[in-house]
Amino acid sequence: MAIKLEKLKEEKKKGKLSFLIKGADEALANTIRRLIIEEVPTLAVEDLEIKDNNSALYDEMLGLRLALMPLKTDLKSYNLKQQCKCQGEGCAQCELILTLKAGKKGMVFASEAASSDPKCVFVYPETPIVKLIAKQKVDVVMKAVLGQGKEHAKWSPGAAFYKKEPVLTISKAQNPELLAKKCSDGVLEISGSKVKVNQEKLYESNLLELYSELDKGVQLSYTDNIIFTMESWGQLSCREILQQTAQILAEKIEAMEKLL
Ligand SMILES: [Zn+2]
Repeated sequence: MAIKLEKLKEEKKKGKLSFLIKGADEALANTIRRLIIEEVPTLAVEDLEIKDNNSALYDEMLGLRLALMPLKTDLKSYNLKQQCKCQGEGCAQCELILTLKAGKKGMVFASEAASSDPKCVFVYPETPIVKLIAKQKVDVVMKAVLGQGKEHAKWSPGAAFYKKEPVLTISKAQNPELLAKKCSDGVLEISGSKVKVNQEKLYESNLLELYSELDKGVQLSYTDNIIFTMESWGQLSCREILQQTAQILAEKIEAMEKLL
């Protein structure tokens, strides 16, 4: 079985990537999806010490907010705690320290947090954390560690999903007016009684079944190819996520071979 991958669309700034998988079944696509969501490690705040907090947010809420904020992750410099040389005791190779100290009236943003590693900071500097009024302050020391989405969703690097490749053919549209009225995603290009399919928008459409139900002249079928779409939350690039996924899959296969 020869598997081929074809890049369909990459939006680096938005952290989105979609590609076509040829020659593989849904079992493989689902394995990739699950490895991305559950196994690829990222950094997230796990422990924190609240030295001062008289803001409107309770300590627990503040802690929860900070833990859910994506942290830029450098997988070359950090180990999972249980796999680290320190044997889980905690060292610079498995822990990242961040501090947040603010006492000015107004919104406190993610960019105000200082990190012990300049490569690993909060991904979105404009994320609001808490709003302070006069005389309120927060002073927090955070400890971030690598973790996996299967333990907590805060460590998940992104979302991934897949579907079969659709083929939309139009023999003779019986009701082009109705199609024109219902087509809100630009897949159907209609001029007078002529209806054409815009192939560029076809893969992203969620309305294909509706079109085939509305008009008998529109036929929907699927090939065996799979469209795989992923979106990163920002800790890692889509490329890094896929590289990690491939590595984890290879390690799992190797481990299974040893057991046989
Ligand atoms: Zn360590």
